[in-house]
Amino acid sequence: MKTWESYIRKVDPYVPGEQPKEKNVIKLNTNENPYPPAPGVVKALEAFDTDYLRRYPDPAVSRLTSALAQNYGLKQEQVFVGVGSDDVLAMSFLTFFNSEKPILFPDITYSFYDVWAKLYRIPYETPAVDESFHIRKEDYYKENGGVVIANPNAPTSIYENLDFIRDILDHNRDVIVIVDEAYIDFGGESAISLLPEYENLLVVQTFSKSRSMAGMRIGYAMGNEKLIKALSDVKYSFNSYTMNQTSISLGVEAVKDVDYFNKTRNQIISTREKSKERLKEFGFSFPDSKSNFIFATHEMIDAGELFEALKKEHIFVRHFTGERIKDYLRITIGTEEEMDAFFSFVEGYLKEKGGK
Ligand code: PMP
Repeated sequence: MKTWESYIRKVDPYVPGEQPKEKNVIKLNTNENPYPPAPGVVKALEAFDTDYLRRYPDPAVSRLTSALAQNYGLKQEQVFVGVGSDDVLAMSFLTFFNSEKPILFPDITYSFYDVWAKLYRIPYETPAVDESFHIRKEDYYKENGGVVIANPNAPTSIYENLDFIRDILDHNRDVIVIVDEAYIDFGGESAISLLPEYENLLVVQTFSKSRSMAGMRIGYAMGNEKLIKALSDVKYSFNSYTMNQTSISLGVEAVKDVDYFNKTRNQIISTREKSKERLKEFGFSFPDSKSNFIFATHEMIDAGELFEALKKEHIFVRHFTGERIKDYLRITIGTEEEMDAFFSFVEGYLKEKGGK
């Protein structure tokens, strides 16, 4: 190895779900929303004045932080916006996890957490979730350098109630606790209501799921003003202009349309509940989901083989190869029609395999 090669920061990057090039696919593999963004977003994009592109955007992203603050009943100084919640979370790891002690997150969770920890050389430990994939809150009662909990968790889909989050917070008064709520709008109760009580709590959410804007890349963190100031300082030490003009304008429109937001998320919840029934009928088992996806396994079939068979039919789901979860498929909730197509294929597949 050349000397300069040994100076390169080597990382094992996160592998995102596949984004197939062809248009005619049923895409149930990256937890995107099957419905279009709010009508106001579409209109604002059509009316967008390209002269704005000449100029740098507002580095403080004030219009968007103010719209979000108003929406959640917070002060503008309590909101930080970034390029998807991945950007917000990465920035948060860098900003808040500077202790010598290991940070804690579950062994089965969003697989970007350990990538950031390694990238920033943050020591970490991953307490194992129990047999039914539930996080054991007692594992987070020991000394640590910070805690990250996805709620609902991914890819398990399991939601823990606010008493559970409160218990973790009560045992972790001296470190920052990040609650990643990428999927909270599909039936869970947000930890935003705990912010007045816990100055060390950071709640992170995204426009990628419940607001149908994964392609726009908008995520946000909410917390005590001190935390938000610290995050902003790190951002300004990195790149002042993370949010582009179109993201800011379209993001504001998405937040404004509360009715559309409720209509589409309720539709997804309703399709999810129907999908649970159908999966059960076909002999699948799964943790109870409060997310826009279901994490399902079947005793009689190999998850990897079903994944490949679905893919041949242009139906994409997600299969992780980790030891504890390799028998599971993560199925994003699509439209009713998309789920019909998925189930009709699964029905034929199971018949062929002699399953139920
Ligand atoms: N957190 C969790 C738990 C996720 O599943 C995802 C989506 N991959 C994200 C954060 C990041 O989403 P985004 O960057 O699109 O906001």
